[in-house]
Amino acid sequence: MNILSDSHTHCAESLNGIIALEPREARFMPGKVYSIGIHPWKSLEATEEDLMALDELAVHPQVLAIGETGLDRLRGGDLNLQTALFKHHILLSESINKPLIIHNVRCVPELISLRKKLKATQPWIFHGYRGNAETAKQLCNAGIMLSFGERFTPGVPQSVPADMILIETDMSRIAIEEIAKRISPDDPDLPGRNLRRVFPVMKIK
Ligand SMILES: [Zn+2]
Repeated sequence: MNILSDSHTHCAESLNGIIALEPREARFMPGKVYSIGIHPWKSLEATEEDLMALDELAVHPQVLAIGETGLDRLRGGDLNLQTALFKHHILLSESINKPLIIHNVRCVPELISLRKKLKATQPWIFHGYRGNAETAKQLCNAGIMLSFGERFTPGVPQSVPADMILIETDMSRIAIEEIAKRISPDDPDLPGRNLRRVFPVMKIK
């Protein structure tokens, strides 16, 4: 039995994290939990079949969240295409009541306005947040939680409301417990508690 604490990982062996999968590679192993989504970098190659597979896999009980999905100004091609794909994920998340795990590069205003425009109410988790305190504040005010990993801007985790902080390993090899100490030194379990509040499966079984 393992306690959920890592909001986003690509490590297929993780026992305490939400493992991000794409529909084409989806395989669920016992005792693990997942998010499923089509990365914005893949927006050019995503087919109708991929979207159908996404919708079907999303309802699986081991799938806790939708993603990673989002917008990337530097990579992944035409932003209109990325936006259409992202909207599909948002509507899916809303329709089956599963939170969204978001990849965002230089598209914060677009992200905030999409949340408002689509009246999304599911928790949104901005994964791998590395921006400044001012933008962090805007995101938190819009109801978007921030997940911090190995690389982050020093001081920013302390600047945001305690209940909006999450942590993740993503691609890094550093243990989640070590990241917890860096992000929330006074209370390293805080981000894990926040995560378990969003996903009330205290134990992965
Ligand atoms: Zn990732």
